[in-house]
Amino acid sequence: MSGPLLKVENLAKHYMLGNGFLKQNCPVVRAVEDVSFSVAPGETLCIVGESGCGKSTLARLLMRIVEPTSGRVIIDGTDITEFGPHALRVWRRRMQMVFQDPYSSLNPRLTAGQIVTEPVENFERLKRKQREALAADLLQEVGMRPEIMHRFPSELSGGQRQRLAIARALSLRPPLIVADEAVSALDVSVQAQILNLLLDLQQNTGIAFLFISHDLSVVEHIAHRVAVMYLGRIVELATCEALFANPTHPYTEALISAAPLPDPTRVRPGAPVEGEVPSPINPPSGCAFHPRCPHAIKRCRQEMPPLAPMADGRLVACHVRTGAPAI
Ligand code: ADP
Repeated sequence: MSGPLLKVENLAKHYMLGNGFLKQNCPVVRAVEDVSFSVAPGETLCIVGESGCGKSTLARLLMRIVEPTSGRVIIDGTDITEFGPHALRVWRRRMQMVFQDPYSSLNPRLTAGQIVTEPVENFERLKRKQREALAADLLQEVGMRPEIMHRFPSELSGGQRQRLAIARALSLRPPLIVADEAVSALDVSVQAQILNLLLDLQQNTGIAFLFISHDLSVVEHIAHRVAVMYLGRIVELATCEALFANPTHPYTEALISAAPLPDPTRVRPGAPVEGEVPSPINPPSGCAFHPRCPHAIKRCRQEMPPLAPMADGRLVACHVRTGAPAI
């Protein structure tokens, strides 16, 4: 296939707070602002950033669980932004989602077998034998025994439930899965098993992942490319190797220096970021990171830096690091 599998253009989501009586006076949360990126077939793009930076909203915008304020979502060259419910249902075969908490995203009244085959049954009626064969295949694909198909989610462990959620997402053979903090609620050892499962699935099927996580050690393990978000915007987009070896945006640098290393005797260079994420209702002027940035210059307080390409191909939104003249 030529071209990207998923293309996101200038996507934005603004939430109006208040009762809407006088719209112009309502505070607006700019949860996602002017976000553009693409995902190639078979690629893992990770979206990272502190809590509240807009990662989950972005995932929900892609799935059209929330409606964008502006911007476009294009999958396989088709703009799905304006699709109605019927077209959207068909299109969802191309992109499935795995959530952080598999317990609340799985129907507790259905057995594991019914859960994993439900997406297929939304499109075609299966006979009992067909359903059982499909359930057994899907469960095996995510490393579980077929007998599990008769159990309910409450009878499974957290790791088993997340495997089930992955099997369900795989059932329609989508070329892309959006995973929102899909391993964050799991113990570290179970996390590693699920991550390895995702890597194996990618190797065997060529599936692409848009993987959302606040945990850089997870991201370093699985990403091909990484987009770093701050207050609703992408501030750096680079290959995983380049990002960890040479973080360029001061926010990326601070995030990486704060992330734990597998070897506790090693230390990350740089200083962790200080202070709180500002409110997206009233973001700082210019570069939204400037109040927390040790390198900020006058221009950073006055002008929003564009996401600009660097010599190595990465994109960075920073006046200082992209060499904009000081004012
Ligand atoms: P993350 O996933 O990175 O933690 P979110 O996408 O959940 O961030 O949230 C981004 C911002 O949008 C936060 O400030 C959050 O409070 C706000 N937000 C999310 N959903 C809503 C909503 N339904 N109404 C108002 N504000 C929202």
